[in-house]
Amino acid sequence: MAEIHGVGIGQGVAVGPVAHMAGRLAPPSDAPSARGADAEKAAVSEAVQAVAAELNARGERAGGSAQDVLEAQAMMAEDPTLADSVAARIDAGSTAEYAVHAAFAEFAEQLQALGGYLGERAADLADVAQRVIAHLRGVPAPGVPEPGHPFVLVAEDLAPADTALLDLEQVLAVVTTEGGPTSHTAILAREKGIVAVVGTGDIDLADNQSVLVDAANDRVVSDPTDDERAEAEERRAARAAAQAAPLTPGALADGTPVPLLANLGSPDGAAEAAALGAEGVGLFRTEFLFLSSDEAPSVESQRESYRRMLAAFPGRKVVVRVLDAGADKPLPFLTDADEENPALGRRGIRALQHRENVLRDQLTALAQADAETDADLWVMAPMVATTSETEYFTSLARELGLKTVGVMVEVPSSALLASEILATADFASIGTNDLVQYTMAADRLLGSVAHLQSPWHPAALRLIKMVADGGRANGKPVGVCGEAAADPLLAVVLVGLGVSTLSMSPSALADVRQALLAHTLDEARRIAAAALATGSADEAREAARAAA
Ligand code: PEP
Ligand code: MG
Repeated sequence: MAEIHGVGIGQGVAVGPVAHMAGRLAPPSDAPSARGADAEKAAVSEAVQAVAAELNARGERAGGSAQDVLEAQAMMAEDPTLADSVAARIDAGSTAEYAVHAAFAEFAEQLQALGGYLGERAADLADVAQRVIAHLRGVPAPGVPEPGHPFVLVAEDLAPADTALLDLEQVLAVVTTEGGPTSHTAILAREKGIVAVVGTGDIDLADNQSVLVDAANDRVVSDPTDDERAEAEERRAARAAAQAAPLTPGALADGTPVPLLANLGSPDGAAEAAALGAEGVGLFRTEFLFLSSDEAPSVESQRESYRRMLAAFPGRKVVVRVLDAGADKPLPFLTDADEENPALGRRGIRALQHRENVLRDQLTALAQADAETDADLWVMAPMVATTSETEYFTSLARELGLKTVGVMVEVPSSALLASEILATADFASIGTNDLVQYTMAADRLLGSVAHLQSPWHPAALRLIKMVADGGRANGKPVGVCGEAAADPLLAVVLVGLGVSTLSMSPSALADVRQALLAHTLDEARRIAAAALATGSADEAREAARAAA
C-alpha cells in the first residue's frame, strides 16, 4: 500500500482498478512536405472542420456548461488567426501535421504566459491540436479508455471533451497528475459529483492495479488493505444515504437554522441548484458571464441575466457579487494586463472604483432586475480591504436603489477590521478561497503550494471567528461562500465559529445538510474551539474529528 497526495475535489471515495488515458500522439516530424502546399492545406481544412463538427456534436449531447466548453473548443479549432499561422508554415514547406503542431503550441504558450483563467485554457488548445493531428493521421484521438468494466481513470489532465462525456456508470473516479483546483477536470468533477483527486504530480500506477481514491482526504491509496476498503465502502454508503435524504432546509440537530445556498456563475445553473435543495443563492459570480467580453456589458444585457437568476428564486435570498476582475478572473475591459503581480494589483472593488461607470451600470442593471422580480436581492463587493472601500461601495449601491448591501471578506485586513466594516455594511460574506490565499501567501492556482491552501488552517479559522464576532457585535449576518463551506465537517466548525449561512457548489449541499443535522449548536461550538486551539491545518482537522 502506498499513499499519493493531491487535491481532492468534493467529499467522495471510490475503489477500483486503474485504466490509463490513451497516450498522446507521437510528435510529428519536421521533415518538409513531399506532397506540396495545396494538398497539405486541403487536408488541414478538412481535418479542422471534422474536429469542430465532432466537438459541437459532443457538446450538444452533453448539454449544460460542458456544451459551452466544447463549443469554445470547436471555435478554437476554427480560429482564423490559428488558420493563418498554420497556412504560413505550410507555405514555408511544413507538412500539415507539423504546421498544426507548431502553430497551436505557439498559441498555447502565449495563453500560458497570460496565466489565470486563460492560462488554464492552454490545455484545451493542446487537446484540439491532438484531435486535428489524429484526424490527419487517420488514427483515433487520444481519449478515455474502454476496458469493459468500471474503472478509475488516471490521466495527466482531462480535456473538456473527455470529461463532458465520461460514462459515469463506468468511471468510478478520476485521478490527474496535473491541474489544480480550478482546472477543467476540477470544475466539471465538482459539477457532476465525480470523485476526483487532481494535481498528484508524477505517479507510478499500472493498468488494473487497485486504488482507493479518497477525495475528502486529498489522497489516493494504491493496493488498499481490506480494512481500508471496508471503511471506504462505509463512507460511500453513508454518502449515498445523504444524497437520497429529504431536501430539508439546512439546520443543526437542535433545530438552529443554517440556510444552505448555492454558488452559481450563470442563471443556467439555477434550476438544478433549486432541485438539489438550495435555499437561495449565496454567491452569484457575475464576472463569469463576461470572461470573454472585450467591452463592458450594457445595462440591458446584464439586466436580463440578473432578472433570470432572481426569477428562479422567488421570495428567496440571492446574493450577487459585482464584477470581481483580476488575477485568476481577468476581464479584458476592466483588468490592467501589465501588472507584475495581479493578485495584489488593481482588482475586485479597486478596479471597479477606478472605472466607476462599469460599477454604476452593473448596480443600475441589478436595481432594475430587482424591481421586476420577487427575490430578496443582496449585493456585495469583492476584495474589500478597508473601511473606506466599504463606505464607498455601500453608499453608491444605496444611492442607486439597492436595499441590502454588503462586502466580501477575502483579504486579511477586512477580517481584522470586521467590527468597523460591519458597522457600515449590512452583511459580510467570507470568501475563504482568497482569504486563505492571502493569509498564507500561497497562490490559489499553484499546485506547488497547495499544502498551504487549506481553509482548515487555524490562521484562517481565527480570522473567520473575528468576522463572525464583528457581525454579532453589530447585529449583522456573516456567511461563508468559499469552498470551505462545501467541506461537511468544516461547515460544522464554521457554524460553531458564528457563521450563519453557508454557500457552496450545489453538488455539495447534500453532504453538508447531513453533517449539520448530526450536531447541536453547543457541539458545533465545542468542535470549533478544538480546531481553533491547534497550530496547523492537519491538527485542526484531526481535533475537529476527535471532538465530533
Ligand atoms: C473566494 O475567494 O472564496 C470566493 C468565494 O470568490 P472566488 O472563488 O470567486 O474568488
Ligand atoms: Mg475570491
